[in-house]
Amino acid sequence: TTRIERHHYDVVVIGAGGAGLRAAIEARLAGKKTAIISKSLFGKAHTVMAEGGAAAAMGNVNSRDNWQVHFRDTMRGGKFLNNFRMAELHAKEAPQRIWELETYGALFDRTKDGKISQRNFGGHEYPRLAHVGDRTGLEMIRTLQQKIVSLQQEDRRTHGSYDARIRVFDETTITELMLDGDRIAGAFGYYRESGEFILFEAPAVVLATGGVGRSYKVTSNSWEYTGDGHALALRAGATLINMEFLQFHPTGMVWPPSVKGILVTESVRGDGGILKNSEGKRFMFDYVPDVFRKQYAETEEEADRWYTDPDNNRRPPELLPRDEVARAINSEVKAGRGTPAGGVYLDIASRLPAEEIRRRLPSMHHQFKGLADVDITKEPMEVGPTCHYVMGGIEVDPDSGAAYGSVRGLFAAGEVTGGMHGSNRLGGNSLSDLLVFGKRAGGHASTYVDQLAARPRVAVSMVETAVETALAPLQRDTGENPYTLQQDLQAVMGDLVGIIRRENELEDALGRLAELRERVAKVSASGGRRYNPGWHLALDLRNMLVVSECTAKAALERRESRGGHTREDYPTMDPQWRRINLVCSLEGDTVRLDRKPLPKMRTELISLFDRAELAKYLTDEELAEFDALAA
Ligand code: FAD
Repeated sequence: TTRIERHHYDVVVIGAGGAGLRAAIEARLAGKKTAIISKSLFGKAHTVMAEGGAAAAMGNVNSRDNWQVHFRDTMRGGKFLNNFRMAELHAKEAPQRIWELETYGALFDRTKDGKISQRNFGGHEYPRLAHVGDRTGLEMIRTLQQKIVSLQQEDRRTHGSYDARIRVFDETTITELMLDGDRIAGAFGYYRESGEFILFEAPAVVLATGGVGRSYKVTSNSWEYTGDGHALALRAGATLINMEFLQFHPTGMVWPPSVKGILVTESVRGDGGILKNSEGKRFMFDYVPDVFRKQYAETEEEADRWYTDPDNNRRPPELLPRDEVARAINSEVKAGRGTPAGGVYLDIASRLPAEEIRRRLPSMHHQFKGLADVDITKEPMEVGPTCHYVMGGIEVDPDSGAAYGSVRGLFAAGEVTGGMHGSNRLGGNSLSDLLVFGKRAGGHASTYVDQLAARPRVAVSMVETAVETALAPLQRDTGENPYTLQQDLQAVMGDLVGIIRRENELEDALGRLAELRERVAKVSASGGRRYNPGWHLALDLRNMLVVSECTAKAALERRESRGGHTREDYPTMDPQWRRINLVCSLEGDTVRLDRKPLPKMRTELISLFDRAELAKYLTDEELAEFDALAA
């Protein structure tokens, strides 16, 4: 028989990024016995890599900022496909969550009069990102961890043990959720180092596993991001929405090849950096779409004046939302105006004094010096689009984070959820999203546990199946190599389901994914269970595959271009499609896709926009409704 370590908790949080840690703190504060699980080392999540900052309308740098303006910017950035209630809660609660972080010990950069300073970022009307240099995520994780340690110290005083009510299991990967009928009963996984199995029995699970970027060749994401949470949710009976929308960040490193995809923070542009093609032209002025024309400068002079006088000038086009900038760079390179390594130039050297660059962008300075031998205070950087963030994810109840679909007791927060960012996320809106919805998910998971009449039970057969599935790749002597399979999957997604999509290529992709599915079923890993990355990847592959299938299917279905989904054959936004969410679920092993109407914005929220702007997004029928309301 196989040895399995067993634990009992009230709430199990899978993922130790900002969303998971904030959820765990809330569950523990609600008196729940809470476990935090992370695939990598504690502290090493994407959240720690976040550079630019956390968006919150505190109005510290420009007092005109408030939640309504933030809400509007978020909806515009997402091209009105956002779940309006999530965007509303986010805009309203982000400032409180940032201030609360300071009570946990965070220290953000300051304005001259001692308030939390805020920086400009793409798509945000006013300076809005609370930041710590370009290392904001690090400060966020550091303080959330510190808060957890302080709670553990409290528990030691009252209960005699640090782990009494909150315990961290790091380097532990969850491979299955356990169900009792339609209710969550726990989670099953393995310790990466020993390969030993571990079972958590718990009535509530919060998924906070982050993104899916590893299915793409060029990505800013690190190895853990294989869409595990998305796939776990699907297999448990939950649904995913918006999976066709992926954010390709406009500026990843393109050279040298070994670091291709690593992120170059948007703060470079927020602080004055400009994009140029190989002919030295500042090309973004040619790519301002009609919907944004009124808010962006038409000349370099006006754009440059904006940095010091934003009230009387319009923003530089380098600060358009990310999808616009990524497509523009793609077009310049395609037209033969790219750099030798296939990117464009990002120049901060000619824009700010060297000392100022080193002060504001210390990590970027260090990153380019160390990885590319480029001194960004003297030379331009070479940059190009990189797969960065998934807007799509688990469909949740906006207020509680409870997953929709047939499963109860499953909650989710952070990048693994869908809806909040619509078709495109604004930079800085993720870090605040993690705090706002992490807290909510942790709180509501606790309430759910309180209301249960009886605890669900994990059936022996369910654990046996989980063990069998996990061991299968080790038991096949011959079979497909996991690394080859991952490369093949990345090629399909990068080449056929990338930034610019076409019908025949998407159909081709679906065919290839079906072939890959057969091959993944035969994946084999050599070696034993002790620290065996090939085995781990073999188990991740089925998650990457099902999530990629959702993306490709939804991308084929959505016949329009919007945010992080660009169809060359349907190049414009279609108001009819704005009203539709594409919902993925699993029927047996097969991905099923359904259309579902988007929830309608409440009157006081839709009234925050003027009619002329709404006319760019809404159908005639919706506009008539709006007019009737206004009358
Ligand atoms: P993450 O922080 O990604 O954490 C996920 C956790 O889940 C990890 O602990 C991981 O180990 C764990 N996990 C995954 N699968 C499993 C499994 N099967 N079992 C157990 N554990 C699992 N956003 C901003 O708002 N501002 C920025 O300036 C910014 N800069 C960024 C820079 C970079 C380089 C990157 C990559 C992203 C950036 N983002 C930024 C985006 C933002 O950092 C992420 O969207 C956000 O941190 C996601 O947080 P999360 O809590 O949802 O998940």
